[in-house]
Amino acid sequence: MTGSSDFPVKSLRGRLTANAPLGPRAWFRVGGPADWMFIPEDQDDLARFLREKPATMPVTVLGACSNVIIRDGGIAGTVIRLARGFANIDVQGSSLIVGAAALDVTVAEHAAAAGLAGLEFLAGIPGSIGGAVRMNAGAYGSDLDAILEWAEILTEKGDLRRLSHDELGFAYRHSELPEGSVVIRACLRGTPDNADAIRSRIADIRASREASQPVRARTGGSTFRNPEGHKAWQLIDEAGCRGLQIGDAQVSEKHCNFLLNLGQASSADLETLGETVREKVLARSGVSLHWEIKRIGRQSEGEQTL
Ligand SMILES: Cc1cc2nc3c(=O)[nH]c(=O)nc-3n(C[C@H](O)[C@H](O)[C@H](O)COP(=O)(O)OP(=O)(O)OC[C@H]3O[C@@H](n4cnc5c(N)ncnc54)[C@H](O)[C@@H]3O)c2cc1C
Repeated sequence: MTGSSDFPVKSLRGRLTANAPLGPRAWFRVGGPADWMFIPEDQDDLARFLREKPATMPVTVLGACSNVIIRDGGIAGTVIRLARGFANIDVQGSSLIVGAAALDVTVAEHAAAAGLAGLEFLAGIPGSIGGAVRMNAGAYGSDLDAILEWAEILTEKGDLRRLSHDELGFAYRHSELPEGSVVIRACLRGTPDNADAIRSRIADIRASREASQPVRARTGGSTFRNPEGHKAWQLIDEAGCRGLQIGDAQVSEKHCNFLLNLGQASSADLETLGETVREKVLARSGVSLHWEIKRIGRQSEGEQTL
């Protein structure tokens, strides 16, 4: 472990780092460091950390950081990152038991190889299964709500619980995960089909993404939720925000519900740009946009996590 002597929980087996940089891990490539980053070795290690950590220590779980703006002041307390010990993918009949750290795209490929259809949409989402459950990630008319049978979590006190589909209370880009809990694995259901046909649908999804989204840019996916009866991108376009720029933060020309870091943007630039877009859309159409991207951490060093 690195710099672990001051950490309040002793003898953890995983990797602990003080003042751990987060920006390089985030899709946006912005954000200050975590006071502590803990990469648990396995489920028992994570459960012990959750049981023994001081009640006052804030804990934040991060997946692939593809739907977050980590603020410039970094994250107070401990950031948990799930890695190898949580990335298993096991095919059981027409279900897949997948670890929370497994990437959505890898899960889609495993399902295709096993001749299981219905998970193709995951090939277009650059996150992890933990983040997908939390966000009810979806695309092309499907989402986690449609394919999840159960998810196992560790509660904020470190107890293992299996939540059924219904207990997760899925809604559009939303789940009712208990506060402070960590998703550690999920059971996803597929439907038997021809593997080549599934692979061909995955290829179509990839091609359509490349054509319509800035998938190679420093971005965070859809910035705002689609308001009831509207498309966020259309409202943003109509408000004249396509290509709008603040510093190195820009509203994508290609898909205007995506924000981009053109190089040297700060989190503050991205957030200010997002708020400017919200104001302009409200003034033009009377519709209030709500952030889909999670904005986490301190605005500046020394502030509390919001
Ligand atoms: C180019 C691009 C395209 C995208 N396209 C789509 C799309 O089509 N559809 C879509 O839905 N999303 C899309 N996204 C957004 C993003 O990929 C999804 O929301 C994804 O599910 C986030 O997963 P993550 O692992 O990156 O989570 P993170 O961004 O790391 O975290 C997101 C939230 O999930 C929580 N979280 C993460 N892991 C866990 C865990 N194990 N337990 C509990 N909570 C956890 C975090 O605390 C945070 O609140 C896109 C993003 C990009 C950059």
